[in-house]
Amino acid sequence: MSNENNSIHEFDFSLICEYFSSLERQGPGSPEATLKARSFIDNLTNQSRIADLGCGTGGQTMILARNAPGQITGIDLFPGFIHLFNRNAECLHLQNRVKGIIGSMDKLPFQQEELDLIWSEGAIYNIGFEFGLNTWKQYLKSGGYLAVSEVSWFTSERPDEINDFWMDAYPQIDTIPNKVALMQKAGYIPVATFILPENCWTEHFYAPQAKAQEEFLKKHAGNKAAEELVASERHEMQLYHTYKDYYGYVFYIGKKI
Ligand code: SAH
Repeated sequence: MSNENNSIHEFDFSLICEYFSSLERQGPGSPEATLKARSFIDNLTNQSRIADLGCGTGGQTMILARNAPGQITGIDLFPGFIHLFNRNAECLHLQNRVKGIIGSMDKLPFQQEELDLIWSEGAIYNIGFEFGLNTWKQYLKSGGYLAVSEVSWFTSERPDEINDFWMDAYPQIDTIPNKVALMQKAGYIPVATFILPENCWTEHFYAPQAKAQEEFLKKHAGNKAAEELVASERHEMQLYHTYKDYYGYVFYIGKKI
């Protein structure tokens, strides 16, 4: 689901869910990257309230939960992901602190200034980085943190093919300094940014997909939508291998003033 390509909306919704449900992660990332982002957040206690928005099946949420105190609410639009999320929390005996609920990140069920931390890996693009930062701020306490990962340009110029791909898929993609400026404008102190290492894409996102794709195609043999979904993911992977010097995911950590 790192693919913000519009064409993905043409695919059968349930097929997309099935495809990504078989993966531990639905976007690029890794336990190490989650822990690194967590290391910049210093205000958490057992009373803390944390939200993971666009949590998927909770790969990163469970890492966070094992390394941070407080209550965590995961929110995702897809019921199938939330079902798996809650099952994962139970398997890890985290169900008393970690709960997944179905909902949309643009209609959050929180009180004003209720949260100490908003977490969101590879998901804010669904409502747009700037809109997300502005909308979510009201739910954070003063001094609360925001940690989001977002696809970003590494250079001020890049080859047309990759530029065109992302302009079509997610026109809000921008350079790191421009994203940081948006964060500052929205009222957050930019605490840290770091580029997710390549293995967050290759080892933790694309390699598990390659295996899942074979089984998925076998199960849906002859299904055009399923074949197109896999072809689209493979194309995105190929683009990443060719153009990874020009873009990637970046973690942005900010503190609400
Ligand atoms: N954070 C997870 C999943 C990233 S994929 C990870 O890093 O692995 C993006 C997720 O956003 C998907 O699980 C998708 O179902 C969810 N999503 C899409 N639109 C949403 C919305 N409006 N509100 C909440 N979740 C949404």
